[in-house]
Amino acid sequence: NLDIRLRYIENELKGDQVMGTVYDLTHVRRLEKIQRDFVGNVSHELKTPVTSLLGFTETLLDGAKYDPDLTEEFLTIMENDAKRLQRLIQDIIELSKDGDDLAEDRQALELNYFFQQQIGLYQHLLKNKQIRVTIDGAKNCFYQTRLTFFQPIIKNLLENAIQYSSKNSQIELSYHLSDQLIITVTDYGIGMSKDDQKRIFERFYRVDKARARHSGGTGLGLAIVKEYSEILGGTVKVESHPKLGSTFTVILPNN
Ligand code: ADP
Repeated sequence: NLDIRLRYIENELKGDQVMGTVYDLTHVRRLEKIQRDFVGNVSHELKTPVTSLLGFTETLLDGAKYDPDLTEEFLTIMENDAKRLQRLIQDIIELSKDGDDLAEDRQALELNYFFQQQIGLYQHLLKNKQIRVTIDGAKNCFYQTRLTFFQPIIKNLLENAIQYSSKNSQIELSYHLSDQLIITVTDYGIGMSKDDQKRIFERFYRVDKARARHSGGTGLGLAIVKEYSEILGGTVKVESHPKLGSTFTVILPNN
């Protein structure tokens, strides 16, 4: 990936002399490839629900609309396809934000209240799956952060913990604030292998594609968690055991 450009400078160099500039384009080429792969993946992911939507629309127009049961069944599938498209588009917009945007979005959060609020958003889902979420961390703990990036980290970790938890189980969210903020989200769900743990933070990586698609996952949630943790100057890691559960730990600076 070395790009070598040769220049002849008139009058300065003799006929058999050459001046060259060497550019190392490894990094640029890698970024270009990531970009191309992402566009390719996005197109592929968008195609599936659109194809399904068109197929069902045609079948309805061809006469299925006269059968109320079929109509109901097809519309339900179409609604799911449309919701899937919506989630994908939301996640793609989310990933297009960068750290330099929205410089004025800093705020002080009272962590216990903030986490309670976030968990509250899933009360229906939690009730349906009979999952209890506990919060372990001091009250009156204020943390200055950029909500635009902090909130999606928590949202995606909670959504995954609920999604991949067994019915009738528990999720534990704990936090500790000192010179760093350490947040852990533990579930007792399906867990994952060591090999999968290495890849889950990649964009569009899913352990079980068919299952994830069925459950509505976009494969972008953990990429958002990782990229946003890094924008905030921190890191994220996972510890997991198949069939036992997973713990995600986010470590962010306290500044
Ligand atoms: P998705 O939208 O598919 O959940 P994510 O990027 O959030 O995409 O996660 C990538 C993959 O990592 C998921 O498809 C799932 O296989 C695995 N995963 C994420 N969180 C958990 C968890 N808490 N327990 C088990 N597997 C998980």
